[in-house]
Amino acid sequence: MSGAVVEQPSETDLIRWVESLLDDPAHRENPLREPLRRLCELSRSQQTRMERLISISDGFHRLSRDDHESLAERYDRHLRRMEKMARISDRYQNSLRELSVALKEAALKDPLTGLGNRRYLIERMQEEAERASRKVKPFSLGILDVDRFKSINDRFGHEGGDRLLSEIAGAIRGSLRQYDLCGRWGGEEFLVIFPETAAADAVGMAERVRAAVGSMNPAVLLPGDEAEGVRITASLGVSTHRPGECYDETLNRADAALFRAKSEGRDQVRQG
Ligand code: GH3
Ligand code: MG
Ligand code: MG
Repeated sequence: MSGAVVEQPSETDLIRWVESLLDDPAHRENPLREPLRRLCELSRSQQTRMERLISISDGFHRLSRDDHESLAERYDRHLRRMEKMARISDRYQNSLRELSVALKEAALKDPLTGLGNRRYLIERMQEEAERASRKVKPFSLGILDVDRFKSINDRFGHEGGDRLLSEIAGAIRGSLRQYDLCGRWGGEEFLVIFPETAAADAVGMAERVRAAVGSMNPAVLLPGDEAEGVRITASLGVSTHRPGECYDETLNRADAALFRAKSEGRDQVRQG
């Protein structure tokens, strides 16, 4: 017996070999020829079926990979779109918030002078009255009315008067302590709120405000030579909150004190 290893033909080669034997007329009468032909046919059809199955399986595999990729891509795109929408919504909400803050500020601001308006002052006085009931120290008010302002308008026009009002507002603000509050009460009247300030200190503060207005130089703001030598003065009425009092009662006493300052010669502070 030979020990050499006989190389086995591949399945395709084997079938081809068998087919060539079947085609050989020398084996036509061989009884094994018919069963062998059938076996060969069967093998061919099995091979075809196997190849088809493999190709279907490959197709499925490719399809599922493609599907997964496009699903991931679609997810990414959706995510990016959602992020964009979130950014737009954030921006929209921020601008809405900014707008409502700006609107609220505008509703409390006097456009001419940039100070708080009457509404702002009422809110602050209400707050101070509430705070005063919880504190040992009261708050004080100073109401300021520019003296003879009508004659300023008459001489220098309404526009000149407006410029002056704006400058007066700056002088009042500049004379106050950081925590004092002020605003335009209306026309040529301003209100100052001195938090945690007793009566004696309030008069001193009001004097500071009066001096600041009195030392302004209106000539630079008003038109014509006539402006030289014009002096602006103001009268102030001061009051201090009493326990249990509503803010408007305190204000009424300041108003009454202002009336006295006017009738007693203007350019002065009176206390009520
Ligand atoms: P008094 O010393 O008694 O306060 O005299 P007055 O002239 O200041 O008082 P009066 O109440 O008679 O006149 C106030 C003037 O203030 C009249 C009005 O035209 C002027 N005024 C009020 N608001 C404004 C404003 O917004 N701009 C200008 N330019 N003038 C104003
Ligand atoms: Mg007035
Ligand atoms: Mg006046």
